[in-house]
Amino acid sequence: MNYTEIMIRYGELSTKGKNRRSFIDRLHGNVAKVLQDFPELRIHPKRDRMHINLNGTDAQAVMKRLQVVFGIQNYSPSIRIDKDLELIKQTALQMIQEQYQPGKTFKITTKRADHEFEYDTNQINLAVGDYVSDHIPELQAEMRRPDIKIRIEIRFDGAYLSSQTFPGAGGLPVGTAGKAALMLSGGIDSPVAGYLAMKRGVEVEMIHFYSPPYTSEHALQKAQDLTVKLTKYAGHIQFIQVPFTEIQETIKKQVPEGYLMTVQRRFMLRLTDLITKKRHGLAIFNGESVGQVASQTLESMAAINDVTTTPIIRPVATMDKTEIIKIAEKIDTFDLSIQPFEDCCTIFAPTRPKTKPTITKAREYEEQLDVEGLINRALAGIKIINITPFDHYLEQKNSEIEALL
Ligand code: ATP
Ligand code: MG
Repeated sequence: MNYTEIMIRYGELSTKGKNRRSFIDRLHGNVAKVLQDFPELRIHPKRDRMHINLNGTDAQAVMKRLQVVFGIQNYSPSIRIDKDLELIKQTALQMIQEQYQPGKTFKITTKRADHEFEYDTNQINLAVGDYVSDHIPELQAEMRRPDIKIRIEIRFDGAYLSSQTFPGAGGLPVGTAGKAALMLSGGIDSPVAGYLAMKRGVEVEMIHFYSPPYTSEHALQKAQDLTVKLTKYAGHIQFIQVPFTEIQETIKKQVPEGYLMTVQRRFMLRLTDLITKKRHGLAIFNGESVGQVASQTLESMAAINDVTTTPIIRPVATMDKTEIIKIAEKIDTFDLSIQPFEDCCTIFAPTRPKTKPTITKAREYEEQLDVEGLINRALAGIKIINITPFDHYLEQKNSEIEALL
């Protein structure tokens, strides 16, 4: 079939009332971004549907790109023809003939947005159904579970026919929920948390702590590579790397073993919070899962959370490791995540961390430290890299980085 376009049906957009226009605009921008290297396409965002006019471009190639765009409920390769019943019948038949095999069943479903059209949906269903049966008498109609489904939409600018509908990525268009930070380690959980945040429309900026020379270039590269994997859902992502060596060395020297982890995490969160606020982020996402390790007990989360009132969202909090891994495999981050490069927490991990730390004790130990100085020096050393889907890292000039903070 010579499809003329891809018809996109929106997801939850339809429930968003007044915000609808901005949701559609954002989705339009995100769709245009993933299709930017197909210059022949014409994208028409309408109130209930988005139409991508193929202009000769291969439908399969376009649909493959659409799979990663959040905010799309489903899409169909479609053909647009004049609103002429004879032509509609012939086109429907042709579509069915392409898929027909003995024993298969069919159904015609019509929707009519243009109520001026001379036939109503029942009349169209019957007329087209009869025409198909006349030409392929063995083909049975089946209303509940047809093998071949022909959708006909009578719209103002023409009749649209499609026979296949593919599920989209669901969720909300990235950017419609505002901006937030994702605390990205090199592990399995935080990239999954980032994916889930983006699925709800959040634009994420990565914050990654690294501790040279204790952590290698490979560990940093791994976090950046994970970010590249996630850019397919977002277009481009800012990667903010924060030096953590001095803080970790200081804590290791001055804080009792049982509280090493808690105090380190409190510093990470303080820094993330400051950076996020300066960059107008509204929340912090991380990859914590309740009970997974000592630093992720509820007591521990409370002791760490004490340093900020910014909402901390933990998309994988209630998932089992196997459930998280399933998503990591789906988004193709798993193989990278399990590469064995030490991350800063592994190296400074105490052998016996407290599973039930208290806020009072954590604060007490921090009184011995020059918290402000440590924080300011770490902030002064951050680097921001713009990571694009095409692996083209663009290191921003130092002056620009200062302007951002
Ligand atoms: P992950 O698989 O995401 O590394 P994890 O199970 O290894 O998680 P932890 O190492 O305890 O768990 O980390 C918990 C969360 O803290 C991570 O999911 C991440 O959000 C954040 N985090 C840990 N290390 C770093 C880091 N080096 N830089 C930024 N965030 C980090
Ligand atoms: Mg980790």
